[in-house]
Amino acid sequence: MAASPLVAQTGDGPVTCATCKACCCRLEVILMDDDDPPAEFVATDQWGGQVMQRLDDGLCAAVDRVTMLCRIYERRPGVCREFQMGGSACLTERLALSKPSTQRKGAEDAKED
Ligand code: SF4
Ligand code: SF4
Repeated sequence: MAASPLVAQTGDGPVTCATCKACCCRLEVILMDDDDPPAEFVATDQWGGQVMQRLDDGLCAAVDRVTMLCRIYERRPGVCREFQMGGSACLTERLALSKPSTQRKGAEDAKED
């Protein structure tokens, strides 16, 4: 998520992280070697990989539950940096907010590159 200019428009109005409920922060975030988020937000998945921890509400542990913004913005993982606001994965997650997701963050947008 980011405080970015508008890049897309839907029937519900402009797409912007400022009015989003951090939909994409429900996706699994796999950490890469260059990532360095605070250890308190890191978990180990069932295959032994490092991921961003998600809490019982399904959101990444680093989401501020009041503002719905990333609390570690300057240290957010690479897939979070590359996730495109207004991209197909962003729009999909906004529409699917009410459904739990098992998708990985960045996976859909990565196919478009
Ligand atoms: S789903 Fe899209 S609009 Fe919402 S926080 Fe993520 S990038 Fe921003
Ligand atoms: S690290 Fe930040 S941007 Fe990435 S999923 Fe967590 S709260 Fe969202």
